[in-house]
Amino acid sequence: MTRKFNIIICGAGFAGVSAAYFLTQHGLTDILIVDERDPLSLTSSHSTECYRNWWPDPQMLALINRSIDLMEGLADASNNVFKLNRRGYLYVSANLAKFDAMKARAEKISALGAGPLRIHTDADSSYLPLHPDGYKDSPTGADLLVGNRLIRSFFPCLTEDAALALHVRRAGWLDSVGMGMYLLEQAKKAGVKFEQAAVTGLDVENDSITGVHLGAETVSTRIFVNAAGPFFKKLGQMAGLELPVFTELHQKVAFRDHLKTIGRDLPLTIWDDPQSLDWSDDERSFLAEDDSTRWMLEPFPSGAHTRPDGGPDSPIALMLWEYAEHRMEPVLPLPLDENYPEIVLHGLGRMIPGLKKYYGHAPKPVQDGGWYTKTRENRPLVGPTPVNGYFLCGAVSGYGVMSACGVGDLLARHIAGAQLPAYASDFTLSRYADPAYQEILANWGESGQL
Ligand SMILES: Cc1cc2nc3c(=O)[nH]c(=O)nc-3n(C[C@H](O)[C@H](O)[C@H](O)COP(=O)(O)OP(=O)(O)OC[C@H]3O[C@@H](n4cnc5c(N)ncnc54)[C@H](O)[C@@H]3O)c2cc1C
Repeated sequence: MTRKFNIIICGAGFAGVSAAYFLTQHGLTDILIVDERDPLSLTSSHSTECYRNWWPDPQMLALINRSIDLMEGLADASNNVFKLNRRGYLYVSANLAKFDAMKARAEKISALGAGPLRIHTDADSSYLPLHPDGYKDSPTGADLLVGNRLIRSFFPCLTEDAALALHVRRAGWLDSVGMGMYLLEQAKKAGVKFEQAAVTGLDVENDSITGVHLGAETVSTRIFVNAAGPFFKKLGQMAGLELPVFTELHQKVAFRDHLKTIGRDLPLTIWDDPQSLDWSDDERSFLAEDDSTRWMLEPFPSGAHTRPDGGPDSPIALMLWEYAEHRMEPVLPLPLDENYPEIVLHGLGRMIPGLKKYYGHAPKPVQDGGWYTKTRENRPLVGPTPVNGYFLCGAVSGYGVMSACGVGDLLARHIAGAQLPAYASDFTLSRYADPAYQEILANWGESGQL
């Protein structure tokens, strides 16, 4: 006998489990999630687990603010089982001449709804320091700290060159797999089933979804949700949809900072200036010898970032830097770059000089990563498609943790026919059919990617 479900979701990453949870919140039942892997084990187990409401794109800012509201609601309901904190993001620069530009950009984002901007100088003590744990009683918006003495009185591990530090406050990190498991468990309690299987094909009749192939079995359904992460495009092609997405490889390292050079109470801390790396003379000669390494002597972009991971006694720090774009088809195992750990360490040594003690004899870090699945303008794809019953919930790029609740809620509203937020039409596939949107796209500014 043919099995039948009201809704089938392909993918049990953050997007899929959140979609399932929010569908149940809208009273929908008879839902199956299928994933060929364990839940949350592909991209979703390799993130830096951070969130921020600091976005230059007003629609993204609104989506992520909504998502953080929902995350905080779940943290309230679960006694913060997934350890949501509110340490913030700290953008640090050695270039005091950037003050006007940094202030103008922050004022712009603040005016979009991220919260007020406060400026602090040495003479001013109104800056509220972060709470390392928990998410309550913290300000929104951002604090711009001016001057090294003030910056290092709160963040002593930073370089004596640090001249400006923008502390974004509705931001921080969480145990994201913990939150994903919480969403999945709650969805299961409401009747959602999970099955480990690969979606190998889709049946479309009269432009409508009718069935999902799980190997040799065809399961009947009228509603299918594509939450397949890096395989989003492939799942689109199974129904004849050409989805405008691509994938990029992103890496990170978990570094054992046994010398305790990175403050355990730091926010996610980002070096906001371009730089050339401080290789030794011997290293420079060696790197200059070969075409495959000479590029490491060139200037690098801004954006090296780190955060402590684990409790106060943990020596682990996560380190990342997207110094080059790696756009490619998703393949497994990941083609990790063996130079990455050393480059990131040198990049962060500019911001946290204590890290230089590790040059040449750093403990071997754990290197991992995953795929960002992105649209050209770095907005997600959530909602219906020209195939009736086929819905999208993906292309969440490097913000799939912070947007998880927001996109799950939005997808569920589309399917349930509930009231949609103002940003809904900016995230549907049909936006690309609008000539006005195409015109905006042609002149798109910042992507908002860290
Ligand atoms: C290094 C790195 C750092 C990051 N840091 C952050 C961060 O700090 N904050 C943030 O918000 N985001 C971050 N992200 C992004 C975030 O991790 C992703 O956006 C998110 O995990 C994507 O979730 P997903 O559910 O779309 O995809 P996935 O987690 O990849 O889930 C997709 C699932 O679909 C399944 N699937 C695919 N095809 C099939 C099929 N045919 N049949 C059955 N199952 C299938 C897969 O097995 C997989 O489990 C980071 C990502 C990386 C790589």
